[in-house]
Amino acid sequence: MLAPPWIKIPPAGYGGIEWVVHYLSDAMVERGHDVTLFAPGSSVTRARLVSTFPGEMPDRIGQTMYEVKQVASCFAQAAGFDVIHDHSGFAAVPFASLIETPVVHTLHGPFSVDICSFYETFRDSAHLVAISEYQRSCCPGLRYAGTVYNPIDISDWPFRNRDEKEDYLLAFGRLCAEKGFHTAIEVAKRTGNKLIIAGAVQQVYRDYYETVIRPQVDGDQIRFVGEVSLTEKWNLFSKARAFLFPIQWPEPFGLVMIEAMACGTPVLAFPEGSVPEVVSDGVTGFVVSSVEQMIDRLGKIDEIDPGACRQYVRDKFSVARAADGYEKIYADVAGA
Ligand code: UDP
Repeated sequence: MLAPPWIKIPPAGYGGIEWVVHYLSDAMVERGHDVTLFAPGSSVTRARLVSTFPGEMPDRIGQTMYEVKQVASCFAQAAGFDVIHDHSGFAAVPFASLIETPVVHTLHGPFSVDICSFYETFRDSAHLVAISEYQRSCCPGLRYAGTVYNPIDISDWPFRNRDEKEDYLLAFGRLCAEKGFHTAIEVAKRTGNKLIIAGAVQQVYRDYYETVIRPQVDGDQIRFVGEVSLTEKWNLFSKARAFLFPIQWPEPFGLVMIEAMACGTPVLAFPEGSVPEVVSDGVTGFVVSSVEQMIDRLGKIDEIDPGACRQYVRDKFSVARAADGYEKIYADVAGA
């Protein structure tokens, strides 16, 4: 299991890929597989940990040097593995054909024309896994081994019924325009609702935060709480009346939606990317196509049963289901 090198497993704050790697690594150990995890040295895992770097370095996310070094360390030991499951960005795929061990590569990001062309260039190098049917449809000609939804262990996430919720809406995630935080603010303001915004402000998005979000935060109706601890995150998600996800980009999956639903919190989302696959419209929230519609459905949010939200996540996004999907793919590519 080859994780990105920048954030420990499991992550303390931001880190979608790292949660997926955490759940899968431990689930595979649980199922009796002999798992080696390449990840920062501060990671905690049931697998055998091999670390190229002693600690995590979230401030260096995206710096290729670290990723390439870790990939090289993993590939140098490739003969000792039946399958390598790679979660790196682009560092491993081009070189996967140079080793004999089959490489399964989960596509964690969105496709652009250039990214699609990159994977076409290395078409036969790795066995690709999409994280939503939508993502796969963006570049359909590649060699896919399957589609496996990202999982969540709902026992980690507290459930709160309608009468235990508090009177605020939640917007949570990487603080960037694509995730539509400014639209969440508009919805809150136009409906007179309180909104809590939580999330890390990464250096590349600082300008968006400073110029668009911060001037609208008044500490009362619109609150910004920054990057929160895991316990605070569980509280924020489970106590919210609704989770707003007015995204403006082709979301490849969107873990925050399943985190909200796991807590019994309905999701109101724009229909970009994977959203129609991840949210069951009218059952676990509403998929809406405009701010006006989001405002209208917010008035009907009590029609959504929190218990149905949690059940839906339990059925569709469980760790067992994802582990089944990957186990089959591992067996297929290893010729087992
Ligand atoms: N997250 C977090 N703190 C933050 C921002 C995000 O813990 O400040 C978590 C969030 O709960 C989710 C993951 O990081 O588990 C983000 O994954 P998602 O698929 O929602 O978004 P992306 O990978 O596009 O940032």
